Amino acid sequence: MTSTSPPTSLLIDGVEVTPDATMPAYTPRDGSLLGHVPLARLAPAARKAVLLRFAALVREHTEELALAETLDTGKPIRESRQVDVPTCADVLTWYAEAIDKHYDLIAPTGPGALATITRRPLGVVAAVVPWNYPLIITAWKIAPALAVGNSVIVKPAEQSPSSALILARLAAEAGLPDGVFTVLSGDGPTTGAALGRHPGIDKIGFTGSVEVGRLFHRYSGESNGKAVAVEAGGKSAQVVLPDADLDAAASAIAWGIFYNAGQTCHAGSRVVVDRSVHDELVGRVVDLAKTFTVGDPLAEDTVLGAIVDRTQLDRVVGYLDLARDTVDVAFGGSVLEPVPGGTYVEPTVLDGVANDSRLAQEEIFGPVLSVVTADGPDEAVALANATRFELAAAVWTRDVTTAHRVADALRAGTVWVNTFDAASVTTPFGGGGDTGGGRDRSLAALDAYSAPKTTWFAL
Ligand code: NAD
Repeated sequence: MTSTSPPTSLLIDGVEVTPDATMPAYTPRDGSLLGHVPLARLAPAARKAVLLRFAALVREHTEELALAETLDTGKPIRESRQVDVPTCADVLTWYAEAIDKHYDLIAPTGPGALATITRRPLGVVAAVVPWNYPLIITAWKIAPALAVGNSVIVKPAEQSPSSALILARLAAEAGLPDGVFTVLSGDGPTTGAALGRHPGIDKIGFTGSVEVGRLFHRYSGESNGKAVAVEAGGKSAQVVLPDADLDAAASAIAWGIFYNAGQTCHAGSRVVVDRSVHDELVGRVVDLAKTFTVGDPLAEDTVLGAIVDRTQLDRVVGYLDLARDTVDVAFGGSVLEPVPGGTYVEPTVLDGVANDSRLAQEEIFGPVLSVVTADGPDEAVALANATRFELAAAVWTRDVTTAHRVADALRAGTVWVNTFDAASVTTPFGGGGDTGGGRDRSLAALDAYSAPKTTWFAL
């Protein structure tokens, strides 16, 4: 027998599967084409269809996911239902829609050559995520990674594994091939470290603390040199200048620190306010703080829920004790128990904080605002920039020239002008310094989870 055709289907988990794409197979015997064998990679349109089904299933399971998210994290059920679950679904949808619209490139080599630059999946990506926005941060990482054709492993935080485990079930139901999306709940030092050191993992997408972010760089260096992208928080400043709309600024300042009980990496945890409007602004923020009633996360009208666990509560209480001894506690400062046995902190405004103190430099990760006073815009910018983080900042002014000048001078991955926390999947999110340099969101994330491959044809 001198001729045979190679198989044209795949056998996956004992099931025969017809491929979406094939590749040519040649024999070295005489260089002739034997036929076309399966290319075990879903074509873009097929990946899109599966991810869209995944997003639809997330929407269908809103109640189940929202309840899991709220019980794990203590965030108000209304937010889980209206923000966290829909954002997760929207992010999956956005990257699904991007898959078959994102073209590869041809390099401008000139005549005599054709060089294509195609995006190839990295292989296996592990997303190690924190407890503050489990569904949203997971979606930011898995959606682009899956869209470009990687297999993905999620390691949720110890405090909040439920929603990711539900996502795994929904992914299977949507038709993601077995093994393409895996959730490994476990603790950081065991499961997280095992992923960090695993030689079969090509990239880690990490969000969490600065210290653990650095551990992942170390794990990588001591194993296979895998790529590591870190997003590790901030101490974001809202700069309020004398001509600001103080009502709008006060509202954004209150929401910017009390939303999710301050457990947000880009929380506006520092206010740098011009001395001339200090009293007016702080008065308004304190008035608003009084309206953020701490309550049962399962109650529909709660806006300020629980702190994620006792360890985090103790951390926040440590800062409140320090504040009582060193600054003016303009409002709040107490631990509450609206539901017996739970972990809650009153919305708190600390005034007269020195910018080089721990209260202005360290992530408290609770509903605790530190107010720093500045004399003039130049000092305000200098104080805002005097932080080891570079995640986000805001400036409040009605003067368009000042707005441009200050926004340009603020060192942060995102600068908001006359708003705070305005966000969309279309814009990159991340920063420099101790924030870590990683970026989530936007089309840039498709590049972050793929590698460019050059194929050079001599013509
Ligand atoms: P963390 O960095 O300890 O946890 C984040 C993730 O890393 C979790 O999945 C955890 O299991 C994993 N992890 C922990 N230790 C690990 C280890 N030794 N090896 C591998 N993986 C490990 O964060 P945390 O303890 O949950 O929070 C501590 C502080 O981090 C907070 O007070 C806050 O300042 C900051 N934080 C930042 C963010 C953010 O969005 N940037 C989110 C949560 C916490």
